[in-house]
Amino acid sequence: MGYETRKLSDEYDVSEVLGRGGFSVVRKGTRKSSSEAKTAHVAIKTLRRLGTASNSSKGGGDQRSTKSSMMGFPTWRQVSVSDALLTNEILVMRRLVENVSPHPNVIELYDVYEDSNGVHLVLELCSGGELFDRIVAQDRYSETEAAGVVRQIASGLEAIHRANIVHRDLKPENCLFLDVRRDSPLKIMDFGLSSVEEFTDPVVGLFGSIDYVSPEALSQGKITTKSDMWSLGVILYILLSGYPPFIAQCNRQKQQMIMNGNFSFYEKTWKGITHSAKQLISDLLTVDPSRRPSAQDLLSHPWVVGDKAKDDAMDPEIVSRLQRFNARRKLRAAAIASVWSTTIFLRTKKLKSLVGTHDLTEEEIENLRISFKKICVSGDNATLSQFEE
Ligand code: ATP
Repeated sequence: MGYETRKLSDEYDVSEVLGRGGFSVVRKGTRKSSSEAKTAHVAIKTLRRLGTASNSSKGGGDQRSTKSSMMGFPTWRQVSVSDALLTNEILVMRRLVENVSPHPNVIELYDVYEDSNGVHLVLELCSGGELFDRIVAQDRYSETEAAGVVRQIASGLEAIHRANIVHRDLKPENCLFLDVRRDSPLKIMDFGLSSVEEFTDPVVGLFGSIDYVSPEALSQGKITTKSDMWSLGVILYILLSGYPPFIAQCNRQKQQMIMNGNFSFYEKTWKGITHSAKQLISDLLTVDPSRRPSAQDLLSHPWVVGDKAKDDAMDPEIVSRLQRFNARRKLRAAAIASVWSTTIFLRTKKLKSLVGTHDLTEEEIENLRISFKKICVSGDNATLSQFEE
């Protein structure tokens, strides 16, 4: 397969943790010898194998690694990763490398290493912070800035969708600025739950945080590129008001509101926002996916291109609401990440003992694990219980 057997630690110094996800730890890496300034500092996302307890602490990995430059990267079925959960992200990333990269608004993958800890994705380093963190820290914020954000996300989505990839988990925390410059590009990242249309089963189900999930995902309908456009509509609503469009006492009620497209523009908040922006949100938050605009449509939308977006400073109340929303969101995300890690670890152990009693192939077990992670990620406890029965 043309693999070179090399260790990640031969080429990178792996340092501080940049973030953690349900199944990954992301660290900063510095290339030991690099002629290209662009790839001198990188982010190394280590996708842990389920059930390997020691991997998160090792990060860079002392084991022999399998390194494949992206040029010679094997097809996903050849990747010697036993866990299909890892394979999905690699499949999508490979597809991005072949069809999208480099794109200013999509995270770039430079290399892949594999060792007994799992798979290490060597990614473009984004040091500019998360979308909402940057917005709330700005001294001046207007519709023009919000339109710039939507333009960048739409541009990234347009390229991703053209490659037949559906992101499925578009949310503000998956949009990072490349660096701290004011005009830094915004990058779409985290393709862990994404799908490639012709390879992946037309999986239906619940993915991601419910706030950004489309009605068709909630009703187990077909998920398409238009599902990402719904998520973008939710992000835009929050960007212009400081609160999400669907607010309810419990998730069940929220699901119902989403499935009915039941949201409104509360006069007190929205009176200062242009009609064009509100119309765009209404178009994106249309329950029927076929009537939602595509990413391509957005790129020529008058508000998105900036012609109709107001440049007046936003009402300070909106900005402070966005600050509070962002702080709550981060707290909740940290709590959920920790609960999920424990739950997934414990339940995977149980799952292993359950499937161990049946005569299942490795592939069937891997498929079970994928469904399992997706259900866990959706936080859908009812389905989770059914799954375990
Ligand atoms: P989830 O459980 O949400 O699916 P995950 O396991 O897929 O998460 P990511 O969301 O990709 O992991 O990354 C986890 C965190 O690591 C991010 O929230 C971010 O803070 C940080 N991170 C990821 N990629 C990069 C990068 N390229 N540059 C800088 N930081 C990054």
